[in-house]
Amino acid sequence: TRNLIVLVFAVVVLFGALVFMFINAQRERELAQRQAGFLANITHELKTPLAVMQAAGENISDGRVKDGERLKSYGEHIYNESVRLRKMIEKLLDVAKVDSGQSVVEQAPHQLHALVTDFVQSNKNYIQSKGFEINLNSDPNLPLVMIDPDHLETILNNLTENAIKYSSDKKQIDISLKEKNDFVEISVADQGDGIAKKSQRLIFEKFYRVENSLTAKTKGHGLGLAIVKNMVELNGGTIQVKSTEGKGSTFIVSFPALIKGQDDFDTSFSTG
Ligand code: ADP
Repeated sequence: TRNLIVLVFAVVVLFGALVFMFINAQRERELAQRQAGFLANITHELKTPLAVMQAAGENISDGRVKDGERLKSYGEHIYNESVRLRKMIEKLLDVAKVDSGQSVVEQAPHQLHALVTDFVQSNKNYIQSKGFEINLNSDPNLPLVMIDPDHLETILNNLTENAIKYSSDKKQIDISLKEKNDFVEISVADQGDGIAKKSQRLIFEKFYRVENSLTAKTKGHGLGLAIVKNMVELNGGTIQVKSTEGKGSTFIVSFPALIKGQDDFDTSFSTG
């Protein structure tokens, strides 16, 4: 019977290893497929704004467009397309940095209340221009956390941008901050279309986009949340999503709190 037990054990281990290898191979195949689709899309999306800017610039410099109104409209085209291009290039550079392990983390002790309040203030006009209401519920006495403020800005930017992109009906974003078990939590909640349960663990993977009609209608490459997750983790934090289809999504980012009473940190302290 001992031999039999060893044999059964070996078969179970072998079977487990085979299943593991199969799942891994399948995931790699899916990633390669998503990557190929991404390259085709991104090539198109980089070339289109460049072509628009080139044509507009050519018309102006050739002297073909002279009158005030048309000149203004060509100028607007060039400006809008260059903003689009810059945003796309920044995202690609973020991904490249993450992939090559070259993200520099400039951490220092920060009051999240102040950083998030600044973010909301400077983005309020843009968010409202998209027809959204934004509310911030915070507390100025939260403990400090070690964080790179540029990373936090990218995290908040991508999460609010997604809330805007994936809320077709009720246009509201609620950001709240609170202390929970020695962590400071930031949650970004929308009342949009939500994410199906089976997709929730996949949305943080590079190039993954949920297959539904709303996602098909919005522009994106499935990179935003992969960048967010990476930046959260580089700063020692975690991210999770709670979502119900048709009701909305809440992304909860949490960073370890520095011990209370250490408010007099040397704020020039930096690692990275
Ligand atoms: P992108 O928005 O460029 O597709 P992301 O990595 O930011 O890429 O998001 C991955 C996918 O997760 C999106 O394509 C979308 O289907 C889903 N998603 C992300 N955020 C939300 C949200 N707030 N509400 C509903 N779906 C979301």
